Amino acid sequence: NPAPGQYDYIIVGGGTAGCVLANRLTADGTKNVLVLEAGLPNGDKIVKIPAGITRLFQSHLDWNLYSNKQDQLHARQVYSPRGKLLGGSSSTNATLYHRGTAQDYDNWGIENWGARDVLDWFIRCENNDNGAVTGIHGIGGTMHVENPRYHNELHDVFFEAAKQYGLKHNPDFNDWGTQQEGYGEFQVTQEKGERADMYRQYMKPAEGRSNLTVVTQAKTLKVEMEHQGGRPVARGVHFSTRNPANPAHQAELKPGGEVLMCAGAVHTPQLLQLSGIGGADHLRKFGIDVLSDLPGMGRNLQDHPAAINSFTMREEKEGISVTDHIYRKSGQIRVRALTNYALRRRGPLTTTACDHGAFMTTQSQAQPDLQIRFAPASALVPDGVETYAMFGRLKEEGKKWPSGFSFQLVAIRPQSRDGYVQLRTTDPWDAPDLSIGYFTDKRGEDIATLRNGVQIARKMAKMDAFRDYLKDEVWPGSHVQTDGELDEYLKGSVHSANALIGSCQMGSDVSKGAVVDSQLRVHGAKNLRVIDASVIPIIPGAQTGAATVMVAERAAAMIMGQTVPKPNEPARFPEPV
Ligand code: FAD
Repeated sequence: NPAPGQYDYIIVGGGTAGCVLANRLTADGTKNVLVLEAGLPNGDKIVKIPAGITRLFQSHLDWNLYSNKQDQLHARQVYSPRGKLLGGSSSTNATLYHRGTAQDYDNWGIENWGARDVLDWFIRCENNDNGAVTGIHGIGGTMHVENPRYHNELHDVFFEAAKQYGLKHNPDFNDWGTQQEGYGEFQVTQEKGERADMYRQYMKPAEGRSNLTVVTQAKTLKVEMEHQGGRPVARGVHFSTRNPANPAHQAELKPGGEVLMCAGAVHTPQLLQLSGIGGADHLRKFGIDVLSDLPGMGRNLQDHPAAINSFTMREEKEGISVTDHIYRKSGQIRVRALTNYALRRRGPLTTTACDHGAFMTTQSQAQPDLQIRFAPASALVPDGVETYAMFGRLKEEGKKWPSGFSFQLVAIRPQSRDGYVQLRTTDPWDAPDLSIGYFTDKRGEDIATLRNGVQIARKMAKMDAFRDYLKDEVWPGSHVQTDGELDEYLKGSVHSANALIGSCQMGSDVSKGAVVDSQLRVHGAKNLRVIDASVIPIIPGAQTGAATVMVAERAAAMIMGQTVPKPNEPARFPEPV
């Protein structure tokens, strides 16, 4: 039921950051909190199963967003998955746990958000299955992290090939005392083989608290703002349940309360623009009253572009891919995979198939520009996201998936900054105008990273380690050789590695695009913060879930007026009532 009334905090979006805040802000029992989530409750079993990710793309638990036509990518519209349920994208993601490097956070150039400041919070958030490691990993935090539980013969082959190529083994990609380069296992946000999303870890334990109200299928349409002393002040939000025909509801803030925008890097800037906060010229074009002129709103959108290099398997080795371990030739799921998962939370259903890989520096950058995600499976199409989605539909189609292996190549520190989220219409039910902006960097470094990635993957696949396994290259295909041919392949197939950030960037200078200050308060407005992936100003060389949780944990402490604990002090989260 809709929840009229007054709240200390209204959280717009019960996703990754929203779940963290819902828990922390209700823990001491003094504040009333409302969470409005546009999507469904988090009850579908498929969400818990890591391999179930293949069934979540383009599903009812996804926003089904596409970019506008990207001229530089053969006028393609790029699919951009986003979770639409309690837990948000943490409930639909690939579960990889990466923080990036110390340099990534120092590069933000924002006081109190440098590497030393954020490391402490990463450690506090974490509950690492391998135990605490001083200055690197934590235990006793909320975010469960463990090693992948499924191991395929092809992982060993890939590791051996990477070694033969000249890479070193990296036992911990999150250790800031060492280089990020090397090959190895990626840790995952799972708990004993089940997805450990932020719903399960943060919101679920708080659901019984009488001061927390969570409404699902409740789409926020607008933040209600009022002028006070020449400054826009958030008063509450308008929202609607289920469908556009339903009458809109309103939730109000108590005096001194705050609206916390946690709708993610696409919907937060859309909602704020609809509420009169954004670039004045853009808002006026749509007849929207400008409450705060923030030209950076919705700009600076960044993502990790990805490409595929895929191979089929020699006949003698047919049947060893993860796809073979999940599906029979008829396309039916193997009983063994199901029982192994049901009884022991082991086997191929515990993997999202990209939890082994490498980081490499392929150009003259100071940090790795390439992440290789090695998948012990072939790709049917060169768009990796589409391949995953096709795999999820295989059961209905009753086909055999060919044995093989693939390298997903990710430009992990992309330079393109031209992506944006702007309004397409003033109807909050319409998707915004989304430009993904891949390959728009002036020096062409991003496409060069992926081109280098394909060439490196080809060399690795030709190492002795793969001799008994490799049959043919399917993508891009051996006919694609010159730089020009590779670039055409990349423009025609580059896809999202799902790391959207930056569209409400943190910073002090509004004229340089800043939308929120270092306390995540929207510049020029009162009682309004953005707390989600959109505040991250520069994409870290990592998947972005861990950084989003870190941002939300810090924000909760700021809101509650807690002082930042000194390094190495034990976590001091408020005790639940
Ligand atoms: P979200 O978690 O997306 O939450 C936003 C919430 O707001 C959603 O629940 C949404 O439904 C809701 N919402 C939106 N609009 C409204 C509205 N108008 N009213 C009410 N509610 C609204 N990161 C990793 O670290 N490792 C990975 O392996 C990884 N893989 C990924 C794979 C995929 C397919 C995806 C989509 C993401 C992946 N990520 C990964 C990225 C990571 O999950 C995100 O960076 C992170 O979850 C973003 O958190 P958020 O809080 O900003 O947004």
